[in-house]
Amino acid sequence: MSTPSLLILPGDGIGPEVMTEVRKIIDWFGANRDLAFDVSEDLVGGAAYDAHGTPLTDETMARAQAADAVLLGAVGGPKYDSLDFSVKPERGLLRLRKEMDLFSNLRPAQCFDALADFSSLKKDVVAGLDIMIVRELTSGVYFGEPRGIFKEGNERVGINTQRYTESEIARVARSAFELARKRSGKLCSMEKANVMESGILWRDVVTEVHQAEYSDVELSHMYADAGAMQLTRWPKQFDVIVTDNLFGDLLSDLAAMLTGSLGMLPSASLGAPMENGRPKALYEPVHGSAPDIAGQGKANPIACILSFAMALRYSFDQGDEATRLEQAVEGVLADGLRTADLLGEDGATPISTGQMGDAIVAKLSASL
Ligand code: NAD
Repeated sequence: MSTPSLLILPGDGIGPEVMTEVRKIIDWFGANRDLAFDVSEDLVGGAAYDAHGTPLTDETMARAQAADAVLLGAVGGPKYDSLDFSVKPERGLLRLRKEMDLFSNLRPAQCFDALADFSSLKKDVVAGLDIMIVRELTSGVYFGEPRGIFKEGNERVGINTQRYTESEIARVARSAFELARKRSGKLCSMEKANVMESGILWRDVVTEVHQAEYSDVELSHMYADAGAMQLTRWPKQFDVIVTDNLFGDLLSDLAAMLTGSLGMLPSASLGAPMENGRPKALYEPVHGSAPDIAGQGKANPIACILSFAMALRYSFDQGDEATRLEQAVEGVLADGLRTADLLGEDGATPISTGQMGDAIVAKLSASL
């Protein structure tokens, strides 16, 4: 097998800072686990706009299409707020997601024991939590036509259309069933089949895919509003949840916040398998470019580091090494090391972005 390729797009604000720490981790795996990557780096977002007048050049897009996996930091910042919509930093990210056709967005919500006190929910509700929300990312009400603001009589009307084809539902359902199979074998599908035809179709298609291909997985269905309540009441009843673009947007943010800080949250966006069998894949932290702390060594690199752990698991079939990295993060947190975002008001001293990266590398070395 040739060395797998990894395209790194650090982006703007704290993106380059957290990515520097990921590079330390990637180097560690190359040096110690015989896991070398052919790493290249390019520009996205405001950084690409500054250099080329566009948030993503065609050349970078082509490199992303050809890479085995793409790892992105964050894009955006106040400097670019007044730019035309067509060249805003976020357009670079949206182009990547659209042209790579990344229809399955994986958002884990995992509570590290050392941070259980950090949640706004009671400790016993979140301690040990480890669930995965799979959100359909390329269709549904954010893309459906007709859309727009129209004149109707003497007032305006705003229209968006929730639209799903059977194949769009089936492919994201398969992605979620596959994940459930690798985890506890349980999948809950959420929609609003009680009030939406697209929800009825969603439920039908998920059930058909289940019966035809995944009857070994335990499938349940829940209305998305009830799902939101259950996620805050007793989230540990779930393992993998699959839902559409709109409900997934809300439910994945809700689930993520059960666990504490934005600086801890990774994500993966996966598409169809490439010729080599690996899915098209973009890994990125959930947080943005955090301009308020950029350049100060305050950013928590863990979300980006855990995004690389997801790349190890979902693109490179290195589940054991992904677990090794997640356990190193857990170990550092258990030692009490915290970046500023993980500290309360108790006056403890935070460590810097670089110190967090170094501590995780040291834990990795201790794991050998
Ligand atoms: P943000 O996620 O950048 O920051 C929200 C708050 O969380 C800030 O107080 C920030 O300091 C803190 N924070 C975020 N990540 C952190 C980390 N790793 N460590 C410590 N603290 C962290 O969201 P925002 O302030 O709404 O947006 C800032 C910019 O980022 C905007 O231009 C926005 O459009 C962009 N954005 C980009 C993405 C992306 O690249 N995927 C996502 C969201 C927002």
